[in-house]
Amino acid sequence: MSNDVYARLGVTKLINAAGTYTAIGGSRMSSQTLAAMAEAAEHYVNIRELQSAVHQKIAEITRNEAAYVSNGAACGLALCAAAAISRLKQKSFELLSRDEVESCEIAILRAHRNPYDWALQFTGATLNEIGYPNIIQIPDKARLIEEIGPNTAAIYFAYGPAGGWLPDGAPSFEIVAQVAKEKGIPLIVDAAAQVPPKSNLWEITRKGATVALFSGGKDLCGPQASGLLVGEKDFLQSVTDIGFPNYGIGRLFKVGREELIGLLSAIEQYLAHDEDLRATQAEADVERICTGLRGSNIVQASRAFPNEASQPIARIRLEPLTMSVDVLQKRLLESEPSIFAGVERGALYVNPMTLSGDEVDIVLSALQSLDSGTL
Ligand SMILES: *Cc1c(COP(=O)(O)O)cnc(C)c1O
Repeated sequence: MSNDVYARLGVTKLINAAGTYTAIGGSRMSSQTLAAMAEAAEHYVNIRELQSAVHQKIAEITRNEAAYVSNGAACGLALCAAAAISRLKQKSFELLSRDEVESCEIAILRAHRNPYDWALQFTGATLNEIGYPNIIQIPDKARLIEEIGPNTAAIYFAYGPAGGWLPDGAPSFEIVAQVAKEKGIPLIVDAAAQVPPKSNLWEITRKGATVALFSGGKDLCGPQASGLLVGEKDFLQSVTDIGFPNYGIGRLFKVGREELIGLLSAIEQYLAHDEDLRATQAEADVERICTGLRGSNIVQASRAFPNEASQPIARIRLEPLTMSVDVLQKRLLESEPSIFAGVERGALYVNPMTLSGDEVDIVLSALQSLDSGTL
């Protein structure tokens, strides 16, 4: 075992066959991004001046009015909730009483409730839950309008194509965007894992989001502790007025010059990469693994599409034939090197998005050696 930084701590290195899972490190920064961060760390600068330059540049290249770098999409949601409350009450957030904040509501569809929505409640605002997470009575436009009242500070929308991780039961994005526009309520769109496609960086705002949020540490391959907000200038000005390095709640969401420069660099590279080529490469990886496992007595491999985050990239579904899926997952974790793949609804999934070329072969041979019992 090489004496690297993880080995010295006795921490196991993993091959990420699961996709952009934050709990195992999300994604890998390129050497170009790492070099940009190291360069940023060498000098002192005025953070406000740097923020303004980086935000303007990101807004330009993502074809948006404005942009903001937060320390994660979840933290960005908290800042957006605070900005929406401040705008509704027409007062600086730090001057609002607890009662004033708690009287504000963020409208959310029950079909969109998820463990990240705590960020919206972080300010003390109340969630107004609408509809059900099933198809029995999907709220229509009239129903949504009825749910918007004088205390509604914002509408939250979890973005994602049909067939992905979100349950049925939500009206379409277009309907919700119309309601937000007609009622003059900010529409906060959680698109944390919604690249690819990279066009979502401008399409979601073009279709009516006041602000769209993306995780910097997922497929954008920026710093793990970074998030991207794009959207309307006025709204993002309110976010800027609350966010770091201001005191008040924004001070909890520190973004350093390394993250600012790192995320800018990562986005520039992301916009330049060939998305179609990458999707084709993923198909080839899927085919290579499926072909390599043909005739296996341990797993039945097939192509699955889209992936766990509803991204348009193929992955491999592995149905265990002789053991439980949990045991299969454990056997891969115990292989050398250790491989992490995700379990969903009784099957194990291998997502090529986070695998480099030789790692695809490592995963394939680990799965093949399950058959021969050498693992
Ligand atoms: C990952 C994710 C987040 C959180 O993003 P971070 O950048 O890790 O804070 C929020 N919402 C959804 C839907 C996500 O998938």
